[in-house]
Amino acid sequence: MAECVEVVDEALRAVARGDVVLPVRTIVWLPDRHGLLGVMPGYLGSEKILGVKAITVMPGNHGSPLDSHQGVVLLFEGERGRLLSILDATAITTIRTAAASAAATRALARSDAADLAILGTGVQAAAHIDAMRVVRPIRRVRVWSRSPANAHAFAIKESARHGIEVAAAESAREAVRGADLICTVTSASEPILEGAWIAPGAHVNAVGACVPRWRELDTEAVRRARVYVDHRPAALAEAGDLLIPIAEGAIEATHIVGEIGGVLAGAVPGRRTPEEVTLFKSLGIAVEDLGAAARAYANALAAGIGADVAMGGERRAGA
Ligand code: NDP
Repeated sequence: MAECVEVVDEALRAVARGDVVLPVRTIVWLPDRHGLLGVMPGYLGSEKILGVKAITVMPGNHGSPLDSHQGVVLLFEGERGRLLSILDATAITTIRTAAASAAATRALARSDAADLAILGTGVQAAAHIDAMRVVRPIRRVRVWSRSPANAHAFAIKESARHGIEVAAAESAREAVRGADLICTVTSASEPILEGAWIAPGAHVNAVGACVPRWRELDTEAVRRARVYVDHRPAALAEAGDLLIPIAEGAIEATHIVGEIGGVLAGAVPGRRTPEEVTLFKSLGIAVEDLGAAARAYANALAAGIGADVAMGGERRAGA
């Protein structure tokens, strides 16, 4: 995770420098809308790599043997266009999403932030504890889920894994009371976090709700925060957490202070006072996947792991 935080930090800076080609992803909803296929292409100039993530998102898979995010990342080199690697998008998505939240938290949260609230108990909930511990001295974690049984099971497992206090909270409000860091990592389509509950000086990573009509945060949570995004065009196309308050007239698009990569690069101001609430609205962008995939590929080559597969595309004499 610590290595991936640096990789994603650099990919986010590349976005702010304009050293990427990053179209807004294409989403194909199934007709009954129980899930979708996301196709996420991009180019990361710093690595000279080109690629695409194709991933299905099936929220109903939570609690089944199948992850709710499944697919592949295809990694190409940018010079001749050779396919370098086919990687598991479940693993890449898990780590790079939490790493992006960590990069944002390092830039925006108070340096003494140690009390963490996690809303959700799925794959991202666990990855976010790992990620927050990389960048802040986390002493206590409170977790909430719709299902008290899930929250208790998660708390027992994660406190054993980390050796710190992880406690199940009775309500989302109870989980976030006085918290320094709040990560919303659910498949909710209606708000699960209210602005009135957020303590002064908190930093929020809003990770779920990646489509325009869904949100995890109520309008007040967004209105009272200094808001940062991973990629502004994507935020204005996909982020229900921002688009719904904009449609209500509660905020304007200018309420978005900037892209987090700009803060990381020192070009956009971050937190100004210990009391203000900062919010990173994460949607997930292809260049995070490409950066993480390129590092995983390089590490795999160095370690001699992975399988060689013969693909087409090579012109052979006489062929
Ligand atoms: P999982 O399927 O592993 O976990 C989903 C969690 O959401 C569970 O804890 C479940 O809780 C909870 N949940 C589901 N429906 C609701 C609801 N209506 N209200 C409240 N809680 C609900 O998903 P992941 O951890 O992989 O992903 C979490 C979210 O993050 C998803 O929305 C996903 O699309 C998004 N995501 C965003 C990324 C980004 O880059 N920004 C990348 C990857 C994922 P319960 O125990 O109560 O069932």
